[in-house]
Amino acid sequence: MPLIAIAQNRRMSDYVESIRRAGGEPVEVVPGAETPEQILARVGGLMLTGGGDVDPSLYGDPPHATFEAAETGRDQFEIALSRAAVAGGVPFLAICRGMQVLNVAMGGTLVQDIPSQITGALDHSIREPRHHIAHEVWISKGSKLSALLADHMEDGETCHVNSRHHQAVKQVADGFVVTATSPDGVVEAMEMPDAPFCIAVQWHPENFWRTGEFRELFQGLVQAANNRTK
Ligand code: MN
Repeated sequence: MPLIAIAQNRRMSDYVESIRRAGGEPVEVVPGAETPEQILARVGGLMLTGGGDVDPSLYGDPPHATFEAAETGRDQFEIALSRAAVAGGVPFLAICRGMQVLNVAMGGTLVQDIPSQITGALDHSIREPRHHIAHEVWISKGSKLSALLADHMEDGETCHVNSRHHQAVKQVADGFVVTATSPDGVVEAMEMPDAPFCIAVQWHPENFWRTGEFRELFQGLVQAANNRTK
C-alpha cells in the first residue's frame, strides 16, 4: 500500500479518509524534522490541502485587505515540498490552497480576492455544507483530469463542484496548463502535462468521500504512487 504524505492542516479527516478509500496509506508530515527531499524519499506521493492565503510577497504583490495568513511555517514548508516533488517527478495532488501554493512555488501568481477583483464572479465561498455544489466547471478535453473524471462529466466536459476559496490562480506557472475553469473565468484546475502525475484542483474533492464523485482523483494519485515505488 503506497504511502501518501499529507502536509498537516487543521482539519485532516476528509483528506485522510479519501486517501484510505483509494487504497493509500496517509502520512501526516510537518515542518522541522526532515527535509522535503527526505520526506519524499520515503513516500510514494504527495498531497497538499486547504488553508489560509499564501503570503503575497512570495509572488511580489502587496497584501490585499482580506489577506489571512496560513499557520506560521506552512508557506515555506509546502513551497519547498512542491518544488522537490516537481523536481523529483513525485506524484502530486494539490487541493485548494495546495493548488495556489504549487502555482506560487513554480513561479505563478494569484488573484488575491475573487469578489473584489473579478467583475461578475460567481459565489466561490459557500462554506456549508462542505459538499454543497456551488458551480460548474468546464474541463479541458484531452487533459489527465478529463480522463480521470470521465464518468462524472456531462457532455464530456462539465462537472459540478463545491467551492470554498476567495483566491485563485492568476498567471499560471511555466510548465503547467489550465485544465478547468468556472463559467466566470476563474481557474479551477491545472496540471503539468510532462509529469507522471501532477494535478491541482481548486475545489474540495475530499469532501465527497462518502459518495465518491471524485474518487478517481485520489485513486489516480495512489496508482501513480504505486508505480513509482514498484
Ligand atoms: Mn470555485
